[in-house]
Amino acid sequence: MSSLASGHSGYVGRFAPSPTGPLHEGSLVAALASWLDARAHGGTWLVRIEDVDTPRCRPGAAAKILSQLAACGLHPDAPALYQSSRGPAYQTALDTLLARGWAFACSCTRRQIELAGAAAGTQRTRHAERIYPGTCRDARRATPGCAIRMIAAPSLRRPLEVLDVRWYDRRLGEQRQDVTHEVGDFILRRADGLWAYQLAVVVDDAAQGVTHIVRGADLADNTPRQIHLQQVLGLATPRYLHAPLRLGADGEKLSKRNEARALDVSDPTLALRNAAAQLGLTLATANLADTLAQAVARWRAQWMA
Ligand code: GLU
Repeated sequence: MSSLASGHSGYVGRFAPSPTGPLHEGSLVAALASWLDARAHGGTWLVRIEDVDTPRCRPGAAAKILSQLAACGLHPDAPALYQSSRGPAYQTALDTLLARGWAFACSCTRRQIELAGAAAGTQRTRHAERIYPGTCRDARRATPGCAIRMIAAPSLRRPLEVLDVRWYDRRLGEQRQDVTHEVGDFILRRADGLWAYQLAVVVDDAAQGVTHIVRGADLADNTPRQIHLQQVLGLATPRYLHAPLRLGADGEKLSKRNEARALDVSDPTLALRNAAAQLGLTLATANLADTLAQAVARWRAQWMA
């Protein structure tokens, strides 16, 4: 797949929703932030439908998201790319990682990971799951129907050293993660054959020539794994900006999973003003075109001054 033309600025940004439901107020904030950054840079803005986790996808959600974006005047510069059509590209990347020894088949069940971790006395957990203890790392059995994991080490010659990824976020500043201990060897393809977000996002951002990633701050924690994959696959690392999240009344992040209400686009100007306020942009405008134009100007002043 060739990179899309990126205008004079060379900037390519994207909004990459998972079609697990319609846009809600929180996802409009992420969409608007990526659109604003692309427009403020005179760049290209793409929409990619991340429909790899098929059991979580809802029929009609992708079309609904695209129509909600259009109602808000957020029009992508190319037809949306669907990850469900990208399996061959993910397979090629996976084959490269397997051939180079960076990926391995893992037959461990959740329970085995729990027991092995407990036996080794490691208490580390992440999102309530134990960090993978490395059981299958050296076995290199290519059993069909296994999950495939990526090695979280700085190089294959130094497999026991810590993968300490340092990166810069345009809003959060200098960031750092010990991927080896905080995340562990991570899944690239699940045992049920579904592609993992980390691999799909890295392959597609590179294939679409994405230069700038602007997304919600809840995803910042994934960035070191994505940078690791980019480096091992010889792909460029985009610039990152993780935008503030919209929190619910309970202080929890709004998400489709916790049943955040579908975004009401009957008054798109109001919806956009609310989303802009989450990004620290106070707008005083009455119509859609003025709202978008003022938001671009404010964004430019805030993030590009
Ligand atoms: N598909 C992911 C989500 O909806 C976002 C991926 C990304 O922006 O990198 O949470």
